[in-house]
Amino acid sequence: MKSSTSLLISLLCLSFNVFASGDIPDYKAEKISPHTWVIHGPVALPNVENRGFMNNPSFTITDTGVVVIDPGSSVQAGEMVLRQIKKQTDKPVTHVFSTHIHGDHWLGNHAMKNAYPNAKFYAHPEMIKQAHAGEAEAWISMMDQLTEGATRGTKAVIPAQALSNGQELKTGGITFRTYLSDHAHTKTDAMIEVVEDSVIILGDNVLSQRIGRMDDGSFRGSAKACEIARATGVKTYVPGHGPSGDANTALTFCDYLSLLYEQVGLQVEEGLSDFEIKPVILPKFKAFEKWSGFDLEFGKHISLAMLEYETASFE
Ligand SMILES: [Zn+2]
Repeated sequence: MKSSTSLLISLLCLSFNVFASGDIPDYKAEKISPHTWVIHGPVALPNVENRGFMNNPSFTITDTGVVVIDPGSSVQAGEMVLRQIKKQTDKPVTHVFSTHIHGDHWLGNHAMKNAYPNAKFYAHPEMIKQAHAGEAEAWISMMDQLTEGATRGTKAVIPAQALSNGQELKTGGITFRTYLSDHAHTKTDAMIEVVEDSVIILGDNVLSQRIGRMDDGSFRGSAKACEIARATGVKTYVPGHGPSGDANTALTFCDYLSLLYEQVGLQVEEGLSDFEIKPVILPKFKAFEKWSGFDLEFGKHISLAMLEYETASFE
């Protein structure tokens, strides 16, 4: 009895130790175009099991180096991304883009900086401002809490290079074209087109198989960003979370945003309150009911869309 108890204790300690070391197991990098790979993270919120890793880091191998977009939620996630890059090339990481302020996308910058101190880090100017104003530290402690310490040791490497809308960065024969919005998923979003590869990295302006928070977002602004992404006419769309695909499969979220805003607007005009709206419009959202986070977010989205609709009618 005693030995089985001590075995149990040592097993618990062992799992705790393995856990506390924070290594994230390798996730496969999928080649989506001639120069670009995406590591599709699990579609869930940051938690103990996924150790905070749940976004879609991407990397593009140019003639002269590697350009990384959104290397994950922690130094550990960033190290996992670096291991996947190493499987494809020995070239150094030269540029790193962050799509927006949410830390599950960019706290992995720490690992990029550790391994490649000369790499340049880019983001929307508002992302840089918000990160310095306290969001970086808030995200570090939030990831630590949600993962019960699995992301510990992560430091914020805040981008120094501010992007502008329509900017083109050419490196190693590949062009990275940026699309900034004032207010879409957040007020800090940058989408990045890998021009020669016919790929666009959407950040959280577009999600797939997952309904995310809109607490910092705008429904109308997100729908507009969606249209800008669609208008690029690229072959492959890479959402912030969930599977990549062509316009028909990867941009379904755009339909969700527009439908929600339109339906909420119609019911507000009928004089319904948010809890009355939900059962009336729910049947129109059958296609999204199975998406991760739908039950959690749908009611909140209705309240937020209502607020936006009412504010908009005063504009
Ligand atoms: Zn986000």
